[in-house]
Amino acid sequence: MYKIEATKTLKEVMGNYFIGMKDKTKKYAWCTSVGPAELLRSFGFEVHFPENHGALLGTSRTAGDYIPESAKLGYSNDICSYLTADIGSYLKKETPLTKHYGLEGPPRPDIIVYNTNQCREVQDWFKFFGKELNVPVYGICPPRHLDEVTQEQIDDVAIQFKNLIPLCEQVSGIKFDIDRFRETLKLSKVATDLWKEVLWTARATPSPISFFDATIHMGPIVVLRGTQTAVDYYKLLFAEMKTNVENGIGFLDEERSRIYWDGMPIWGKLRPISELFLNNKAAVVASTYCNSWVFDAFDERHPFESSAKAYTEIFINRSETAKEKILSNLVHDFRIDGIIFHDAKTCANNSNSRFGMPQRLRESLGIPTLEIEGDLCDLRFYSEGQSITKMETFIEQIESTKMAC
Ligand code: SF4
Repeated sequence: MYKIEATKTLKEVMGNYFIGMKDKTKKYAWCTSVGPAELLRSFGFEVHFPENHGALLGTSRTAGDYIPESAKLGYSNDICSYLTADIGSYLKKETPLTKHYGLEGPPRPDIIVYNTNQCREVQDWFKFFGKELNVPVYGICPPRHLDEVTQEQIDDVAIQFKNLIPLCEQVSGIKFDIDRFRETLKLSKVATDLWKEVLWTARATPSPISFFDATIHMGPIVVLRGTQTAVDYYKLLFAEMKTNVENGIGFLDEERSRIYWDGMPIWGKLRPISELFLNNKAAVVASTYCNSWVFDAFDERHPFESSAKAYTEIFINRSETAKEKILSNLVHDFRIDGIIFHDAKTCANNSNSRFGMPQRLRESLGIPTLEIEGDLCDLRFYSEGQSITKMETFIEQIESTKMAC
């Protein structure tokens, strides 16, 4: 059975990251997953990512216990289930971090920073905790849904990054050091380049890494970017992936079809969905989600401008036209036979099937597409039997389309 050997190291790396949060002498920043982690790290903050905690609540299938707690405060079941699960977990004073790492909960923040490049939900989520914990909150609000990112927009966001400095200085007690910021950004750039190389090995047939593997191995690029630990981990993972490609070893011996996954993972059902594809020799080799932590623009010579560009030009912050172009290129580069769009009930921002994109891509690319309804954390929105049937039928459809060509 195919196994990624680096997984052992991954567990250690992630374990050390979480266990390190027991240290109450450190200062902690909470940050959105595509927020300015490098700038915060340059002030010596350890960084906690509430979305990562949300994903943990999803994979551990405990989100369902906590979402109703948020509803009691008036948070709708229809909004981001990371938000509702995370706030609910806080209210109930329970977290899977206790069982796995012996933590009482996420570390208490000294500062909370969000970037609405991904959605406005993070603003409400982070402000809730700012008020609840009496902690300063800073928001970066870039222009949204862009075709192209202009210099004027980059300059605007770069100023917002710079305006965060006085608050960071005040909370950390450390003077801003541009060399330290440059060094952190450089580490982030090396790690994100390696992460991209890892993901891009999936262009090979057989592919050494699936979308489902990547959702696990993306941990360090989310929570540890800007550190040497992340760089070292992705060097190790990339070396293994490269060797496997050279030796013709992949997670499937025979790939009958190659599939692109658009949208969020269904965290609580990763394993059964992965097995469904493996059993049908369908290789899910690329995704919008895992690519979200590829930041080509980072450049330590221009730390503010390049951070502003990298974090503003992310896929989720682009127009339908730009997204279609990006998806079309990926379909070509990864030799994709079909696209699955996961329509996540509680995240419109990461669901790209609602405005006709599947139809348009079917026509322009000539490959089948499928839409499945589900959610990142709230499994009440995922009908397993119906979705399995839809995905199996879709795989058969792809195979017959390929045979007919
Ligand atoms: S992008 Fe979606 S899943 Fe992520 S925080 Fe925003 S609403 Fe939640």
